[in-house]
Amino acid sequence: MTRYVYDFIEGGRGMADLLGGKGANLAEMTRLGLPVPPGFTVSTDACRAYLVDRQVPEGLFDEVNAHLREVEVRLGRRLGDPAEPLLLAVRSGGRYSMPGMMETILDIGLNDATVTGLARISGDERFAWDSYRRLIQMFGRTVHGVPAEEFDRELDALRATAGPDGPTAEQLRGLVETYKKVFADRVGHDFPQAPHEQLYLAIRAVFESWNASRAVLYRRREHIPDDLGTAVNVMAMVFGNLGPDSGTGVAFTRDPATGAPGVYGDYLSDAQGEDVVAGVRNTVGLDELSRLDPASYRRLTGIMTTLERHYRDLCDVEFTIERGRLWMLQTRVGKRTPAAAFVIAAQLADEGLISWDEALTRVSGAQLAQLMFPTFDPEATPEPLATGVGASPGAAAGRVVFDNAAATAADGPVILVRRETNPDDLPGMIAAAGILTARGGKTSHAAVVARGMGRTCVCGAEALEIDPERGEFRVGDRTVRAGDLISIDGSSGRIYLGEVPVRPSPVTRYLAGDLAPQSDRLVSAVDRLLRHADSVRQLGVRANADTPDDASRARTLGADGVGLCRTEHMFLGARRALVERLILADGLNEVHAALAELLPLQREDFVAILAAMDGQPVTIRLLDPPLHEFLPPLPELAARVARAEALGQDPGRDAVLLAAVRRMQESNPMLGLRGVRLGLVVPGLFAMQVRAVAEAAARRVAEGGDPRPEIMVPLVVDVHELAAVRAEVADVLATVPGAPPIPVGTMVETPRAALTAGAIAGEAEFFSLGTNDLTQTTWAFSRDDGEGSFLGDYLERGIVETSPFETVDVAGVGRLVRLAVAEGRAARPGLTVGVCGEHGGDPESVEFFADAGLDYVSCSPYRVPIARLAAGRAAV
Ligand code: PEP
Ligand code: MG
Repeated sequence: MTRYVYDFIEGGRGMADLLGGKGANLAEMTRLGLPVPPGFTVSTDACRAYLVDRQVPEGLFDEVNAHLREVEVRLGRRLGDPAEPLLLAVRSGGRYSMPGMMETILDIGLNDATVTGLARISGDERFAWDSYRRLIQMFGRTVHGVPAEEFDRELDALRATAGPDGPTAEQLRGLVETYKKVFADRVGHDFPQAPHEQLYLAIRAVFESWNASRAVLYRRREHIPDDLGTAVNVMAMVFGNLGPDSGTGVAFTRDPATGAPGVYGDYLSDAQGEDVVAGVRNTVGLDELSRLDPASYRRLTGIMTTLERHYRDLCDVEFTIERGRLWMLQTRVGKRTPAAAFVIAAQLADEGLISWDEALTRVSGAQLAQLMFPTFDPEATPEPLATGVGASPGAAAGRVVFDNAAATAADGPVILVRRETNPDDLPGMIAAAGILTARGGKTSHAAVVARGMGRTCVCGAEALEIDPERGEFRVGDRTVRAGDLISIDGSSGRIYLGEVPVRPSPVTRYLAGDLAPQSDRLVSAVDRLLRHADSVRQLGVRANADTPDDASRARTLGADGVGLCRTEHMFLGARRALVERLILADGLNEVHAALAELLPLQREDFVAILAAMDGQPVTIRLLDPPLHEFLPPLPELAARVARAEALGQDPGRDAVLLAAVRRMQESNPMLGLRGVRLGLVVPGLFAMQVRAVAEAAARRVAEGGDPRPEIMVPLVVDVHELAAVRAEVADVLATVPGAPPIPVGTMVETPRAALTAGAIAGEAEFFSLGTNDLTQTTWAFSRDDGEGSFLGDYLERGIVETSPFETVDVAGVGRLVRLAVAEGRAARPGLTVGVCGEHGGDPESVEFFADAGLDYVSCSPYRVPIARLAAGRAAV
């Protein structure tokens, strides 16, 4: 028969799956000889068995009784004994901490008879009746769902009439009678007097609380599986509310907010743990306890040192002092802020408690990301005006603008507010301190570009009705006009009216080289952990950078090269007109003339980028997006032409443009004329770009530099496409003297490219996985609509756990990645394979890419330190 119950002396910290985190740690403390009240744990197995058909598994309560007897023998008290009653605390505790989500019932065992026994042994009648009324209330609420207010109302009424010292024992006895009536009225039967029945019902109620709606919601948000179940800890009660020499508190072995060494905590005298949580009275610091009860304080700090050395990590504890005697009610490895995580990991490594490798595992890329963004001063944040998707973290405040012109012309910081953004908005996005959109999710254009630039961005704020023509947006009945100040929080997605004060991040200042590594505890910890990550990581970290500025920023942030230079970003702004000329060209001669004008501009770009990344690889991708993206939107153009015609004017160039846009219009542009297809269809386009690369490299060589360009072909689906481009590239390269050898490789960003990677590797000198398009085409989910579309609904309902555009989908896209690596390298041993989709900067994905044997990840410059850390973690 399955065994369901374990005494604290039988368990240990390694048994958290079975005993829950709390039970396993209580067992560990018991084994360490620390003062834990005797008790036992009903396992998660029992809960899971219960949840199948909501029947208590057979034999469970017999086991509970047997363990209870052992506790009774140890303490010399019995449950239900009217003379010397044992009372029990029943607490939930799953594998993962779910603070406040499940149930606790204290004082089990009190009834009309035992309450007098408790009064006698405690010598405190008031305390005994107060405990009894607490039991009826907690039991009523937890087991039968009686709202706490029904009891609180009675308690408040009594408090209002009680004298300055609070209710008398007699009054509390009266309150118990009232509570019993409330209970019976609400529940339909009397409060159960049999202590064992109370215990069984409490255990059941804890099982049931696993599926309480708030617990289900919490698990979904925290990605905790629904089928784990909770354990139930049954423990002898100790009382912190027995007078001034008693009390209860919580404490941390270090400051969980900053990581500063030294115990840190709160204490409440003459109180039970629930009073601390409920904030009934203000707590005092632990130093106050050192004054009130120096012996218990010394004992507590001694135990905390023992625990920290034993767990080799920050621990938090809950304790109770009962008439000068200290009891430990809980411990666990404590939650902490990202700053504290770095500081503590470095301190523990300094103290020799853990190795530097282990210290790396104690921090995460996601935590580093949090530390890099400026934040709003939490003391100064008002009620949010609306909430969208936190798409690119940071805190930005500025005046509202609705277009590029206003953004670039503004003096102070601005927030660019758009329904959604497109590549045309780039100048405004660059000029703005933050970007706010009403549509789109974390992978929308605005989000991707903003993250790339390290700009704060909130997108998909659907409550915003944006009216750029009138220069305003509305949220309900409030109107915000161009020029009004707003603030946006790119982590929480909150939008505030007015300017909320912002604090810059010292970590970013350090990473940018503006702060010395020793400048404070946090910066020094980040510095040392990152340096250790660099010393152990196998995975290279390159940057996605399209400009010389981006490239040098990436280098400062520790990039090992440029993994993706998107040349289409070089055709925006003033050069747009040249691209328009190319598109409108009539005949080969005009095409060549347009390309000839673009060539020197591209060459200068490449010279500067190669200089910024001297000695490091720079992967330059040939033009990718559909050409019509460079032309004005069809509706706008059509309206202009119609207006001119209606007024009897000559639409001129607009008419030619309109015809071109109509000609190039595609139903599915993302599946249309883009990538390598464009290069094969527009004669001379790729040749011009290749020439620009080669000439730039030759110039750098002549200048004494060490340029290492690589040419990359986008959106290949078939080896013949690549073969055709390669032949053209080779022809061009042969005509440029003085250039170093320039490898030619391909993006693998369609399922077909991955599935035929062996053949493609025959023509490719390297692969770079474009996981943005690979995810889009594998899932058939549009990467541009993101979480504003059905994907948001899928996430909410738990159909997909995380957006596949954010964290690589290991089961699907991941298989294609592994296949491409294996078959590519089988065909061409030693083939370099990197990744340059957004996933290259996602810490969880980076660990997958390391495991898949990739050579490097490439991500936006600001994510380079995050990827370095994640790559380090993946190596230890
Ligand atoms: C990709 O598809 O993953 C990629 C890097 O290319 P882009 O995002 O420019 O389409
Ligand atoms: Mg792509």
